[in-house]
Amino acid sequence: MKVFVVGAGMAGHALVEELLKAGQAVEIHLFGEERSLPYNRIFLSDIIAGRKLPSQLILKSYQRYEEEGVKLHLGERMERIFPDTKKIITSRGSVYSYDRLVLALGSVPSMPPVKGVEKKGVFTFRNMGDVYGILEMARVSKRAVVIGGGLLGVELSSALREAGLDVSLVHILDRLMEQWLDETASRMLSRKLEGMGIRVLLGSRTVEVMGERKAEGIRLSNGEVLEGDFVVFATGVRPNTSLAVASGLKVNRGILVNDFLETSAQD
Ligand SMILES: Cc1cc2nc3c(=O)[nH]c(=O)nc-3n(C[C@H](O)[C@H](O)[C@H](O)COP(=O)(O)OP(=O)(O)OC[C@H]3O[C@@H](n4cnc5c(N)ncnc54)[C@H](O)[C@@H]3O)c2cc1C
Repeated sequence: MKVFVVGAGMAGHALVEELLKAGQAVEIHLFGEERSLPYNRIFLSDIIAGRKLPSQLILKSYQRYEEEGVKLHLGERMERIFPDTKKIITSRGSVYSYDRLVLALGSVPSMPPVKGVEKKGVFTFRNMGDVYGILEMARVSKRAVVIGGGLLGVELSSALREAGLDVSLVHILDRLMEQWLDETASRMLSRKLEGMGIRVLLGSRTVEVMGERKAEGIRLSNGEVLEGDFVVFATGVRPNTSLAVASGLKVNRGILVNDFLETSAQD
């Protein structure tokens, strides 16, 4: 039996491990849009802070996958599934047949309605590609603006500060990490970050990324302009439904499944 796992993130990797442990005669194919081997996304800010190398986040080597007989399709985005014929097509134009297919597509950054986000020097913070882009920019920059005061924005701000940049952290609400922390803890966190030299702006709504073609800062809804050499949005995520939509699966806010995690397409 041929099992396709789509999404070489943490969930996709964990499923492959379970399938291998089960020891059944299945041919496993792992498809990942990113070029990297599956890695532990949670430690991305450690790369920016210089505490870890990208290779230290990798969950398993090519050699090990090969020894275990797992077929890797990395840097190959699955574009569409044809459930009736059990075929798929990828970004390389390759067509493959499967017996069972599992979606482990994760989420994608959610961007607020801000003008100018298409400019050079504007990043999201989700994957290894984002980290390489941010690092390249950080090397030639002095000031960073991070938008979003949740877990990712806070982590990223402190990592960029550790890397020696002047950092402004801009949050729309009046306290940081409001989903995780009560008011007292939130205030303590703000003070801690300020103690590290990070400028924390609360209750501040970003409306525009300034600059001609390249980001030069942001403008807030009260008209205040904050200068910066690059801008990173860490403003939440939403379920990645694009493959499911393209393949005609039932989708609501996320991909619809039943109690057995089966989608609207069989197998
Ligand atoms: C910087 C950072 C820090 C975090 N810290 C924490 C933490 O401390 N604690 C915590 O619990 N969580 C944390 N998270 C969240 C955690 O990383 C995610 O919950 C977890 O990665 C989800 O795993 P996943 O496999 O479902 O999705 P993902 O890790 O997003 O993997 C999905 C993969 O599927 C690929 N993909 C999507 N569509 C296709 C397609 N059509 N074809 C091929 N491949 C495709 C994507 O490119 C991606 O690589 C953090 C996230 C980030 C970014």
